[in-house]
Amino acid sequence: MSLAFLEEALREARALGRHRRLRTLSGLGPHARLDGRTLLVLASNSYLGLHLDARVVEAAKAAAASGTSSGSSRLVAGTTAAHEALERALAAHKGQPAATLLGTGYQASLAAVTTLVQAQDVVVSDALNHASLIDACRLSGATIQVYGHGDAAAAEALLKMHRARHRRALIVTDGVFSMDGDLAPLRELAEVARANDAALMVDDAHGTGVLGRTGGGTAEHLGAAGIDVHMGTLSKALASSGGFLAGPGELQRALVNFARPLLFSTAPAPPAVAAAHAALEIVKREPELRERVLSHAATLRRGLEQMGLDVTPGVTPIVPVLMGSEKRAVAFSAALEEEGVYVPAIRPPSVPPGSSRLRVTVSALHTPIDLEQALAAFEAAHRRVR
Ligand SMILES: *Cc1c(COP(=O)(O)O)cnc(C)c1O
Repeated sequence: MSLAFLEEALREARALGRHRRLRTLSGLGPHARLDGRTLLVLASNSYLGLHLDARVVEAAKAAAASGTSSGSSRLVAGTTAAHEALERALAAHKGQPAATLLGTGYQASLAAVTTLVQAQDVVVSDALNHASLIDACRLSGATIQVYGHGDAAAAEALLKMHRARHRRALIVTDGVFSMDGDLAPLRELAEVARANDAALMVDDAHGTGVLGRTGGGTAEHLGAAGIDVHMGTLSKALASSGGFLAGPGELQRALVNFARPLLFSTAPAPPAVAAAHAALEIVKREPELRERVLSHAATLRRGLEQMGLDVTPGVTPIVPVLMGSEKRAVAFSAALEEEGVYVPAIRPPSVPPGSSRLRVTVSALHTPIDLEQALAAFEAAHRRVR
């Protein structure tokens, strides 16, 4: 069969202003070459810049010397002492009895939700949850009920309506919302979960290492207890690749027995495990890194707001600048690129229609001069794109 039908779908995406292509950057730092020019990059989720830290790089190199691949799934022969040591460190960091590594954060979401709920159950999900949670809910076969973004009372109303007809109930939410940079009301959701016989899972891909006194994440930042499953990724502040789930021992034992993304996918590679462990140690010892990136984010937010741009309020290194249409987001992103700054346009299906945006992220590697350059570029682009 010819695959020409794919062209039809691509034409449609183009007509909607939603067509995407891969851009190849020359490097992974805050400045990189793209199409022959050096650009200031405001797009990485490595918020602390630890993917370029000499200690993290050395740890990965040393691990690679003993083997580059785990060779099989965790259960077959893919669990080493290094995997277990990182799991213990992640569990301690999240204040939980146990943690379990998976190949990616995306897989960690799939593993958690499909292990916790099935067809007889109901899952109550924030309207702006990450795609990995949405896909996980669908894959689980549970009844899915979506509540308005950040609205714990709406989550409770859904539970009151649907809980009795189902075996189990699970509330799922991002801790830091990936495209909005705002925080879930975790204290309220934990209360709702407790009062309505539901479990609570938080995807803290963006909070881990960045928020909270020890870098423990959104729950630590908000002082929220009573979260049953803490999902995190190694691929953002922890400067590596892989995902994890922290919680009680029975969660880990259930994952090892039932979670298909763990059973049927290769364990994280040893250099990735070593890099994440080295990064986690730095997260614990160097709070100044999170202080720096959060202060950069505040500076950038203030400057963009003063220009009259529509910046979503928040405290995280994710600074969304709302554009509305796909067309305006693409034009603004192109104008910024001409001004020497790389910020991709985020469009549906990553965000709801009509809320296309520029998703600016800063890292601890950016300097005050970088921030000035970013603001000057936004000023120039803002004059050109209305
Ligand atoms: C990035 C992200 C993930 C996926 O993590 P990976 O390790 O990149 O697969 C899951 N949830 C949220 C909220 C994310 O932003």
